[in-house]
Amino acid sequence: MYDMHNHTNHSHDAQSDIFELCEKACEKGLLGIAITDHCDNEFCGWMDVIRPIRDSVAAVYEARERYQGRLKICSGVEIGEGIWFPDSAKKVLAAEEYDVVLGSVHAVRYPNFTIPYAQLNFSKFTRQQLEEFMDIYFDDMLEMIQNMDFDILTHLTCPLRYITGKYGIEMSLKPYREKIDRIFREIIDRSIAFEVNTASLGTNYNVLVPEVEFIRRYHELGGKLITVGSDSHMVCNVGKGFDFTRNTLKEIGFEHGYWYEKRKPMAYKL
Ligand SMILES: [Zn+2]
Ligand SMILES: [Zn+2]
Repeated sequence: MYDMHNHTNHSHDAQSDIFELCEKACEKGLLGIAITDHCDNEFCGWMDVIRPIRDSVAAVYEARERYQGRLKICSGVEIGEGIWFPDSAKKVLAAEEYDVVLGSVHAVRYPNFTIPYAQLNFSKFTRQQLEEFMDIYFDDMLEMIQNMDFDILTHLTCPLRYITGKYGIEMSLKPYREKIDRIFREIIDRSIAFEVNTASLGTNYNVLVPEVEFIRRYHELGGKLITVGSDSHMVCNVGKGFDFTRNTLKEIGFEHGYWYEKRKPMAYKL
């Protein structure tokens, strides 16, 4: 399989050395990986968000030479909050020739709580605030899908990693089913791939992101373009839970997973 979502030491919150990451990916029998370091556009006003991505892509070219014939290494970027500063997102896109571009929502335009949700203290939220927060999260995501140029929609329902995983607050996604359906229809129409994110497996929030019922729903609506990403921030997590994920996807009815080269999806058999 291909792990289409990995961070290295060019992301602010990861330490992985790209060569160690590639070595581990080979050990785990992966066919390829994508290096998708963070470019969070909300910070574009006071820091250079493009420099780390240029360095990340340069590291990919170096690693490619060393791992030729052993591992495909895709150059990429994970663009967060692209819709907040569209010009900044366009500059990032133009800065390099990527194999793959991930589109992510890491911060939500919920008044007074617009910092990245990984840093929010959800235990202080009322139930109503939690519900409003999730509602706007899905709206922001839909707006990103409709307005931004990217290939893979990442970790749908990711705030639950924190709301449920970190703070132990249960949240039903039933009220958002229609919005999620709309998101699925939009990505299918626009040939944007849907990521199954394995980062939460083995943690307090021990599920695929999004949960299996939503992956099944994407399939029901005709979605085929699936990618799997560990979202690794540590070398040991590359390819995490991929056997389980492959079995789950096959059981749902998917026959292929996808990787990307020069921003074109390429199928592999699950
Ligand atoms: Zn992310
Ligand atoms: Zn990520």
